Amino acid sequence: MTVAVASIHLPDEAATLACGHHLARAIHEKGVIYIEGDLGAGKTTLCRGILRGLGHRGAVKSPTFTLVEPYEMGDLRVYHIDLYRLSDPEELEYVGIDDYFSIDGLCLVEWPEKGVGYLPTDDLWIRLEVADKGRLLTWRSDSSLGEEMSRKLGGSKLNT
Ligand code: ADP
Ligand code: MG
Repeated sequence: MTVAVASIHLPDEAATLACGHHLARAIHEKGVIYIEGDLGAGKTTLCRGILRGLGHRGAVKSPTFTLVEPYEMGDLRVYHIDLYRLSDPEELEYVGIDDYFSIDGLCLVEWPEKGVGYLPTDDLWIRLEVADKGRLLTWRSDSSLGEEMSRKLGGSKLNT
């Protein structure tokens, strides 16, 4: 598999949400997406776009304090995880994080670098950073599912 890193400029919040929508079209029932970036980089906004793209109509709360926010859209389960407040990756064992990853569902993980050694490998790796007034989104696919997601992201460049 070729591992390519690509990036896209997202000029405003609407572009980040639209990007999430595109990505959602590649999501069937399971997968792991890592989303890195500083506070305020737009990680939760992207997750909101993905969740809305998957059909979620309600609010999307940041799971900073709860660690995990679960969603169900029909048969699809989505776990929105934020490891920002984790001080030691070992804590993940005590909170039973494996349960989320062993279920066939989609896991969106903000701050995956804080869970190194205790997370399953990702299908898609994403990084967000502030660039000009907007954001730069960089991604890499790490599996064939990630490859499919990567194609949707590439396509979003043409359509937003
Ligand atoms: P994080 O989860 O990485 O801390 P958030 O998703 O909460 O960040 O977003 C922080 C702020 O960045 C929000 O006010 C959001 O509207 C804004 N934002 C998201 N995407 C963009 C973008 N492409 N351009 C400008 N602002 C953005
Ligand atoms: Mg966040």
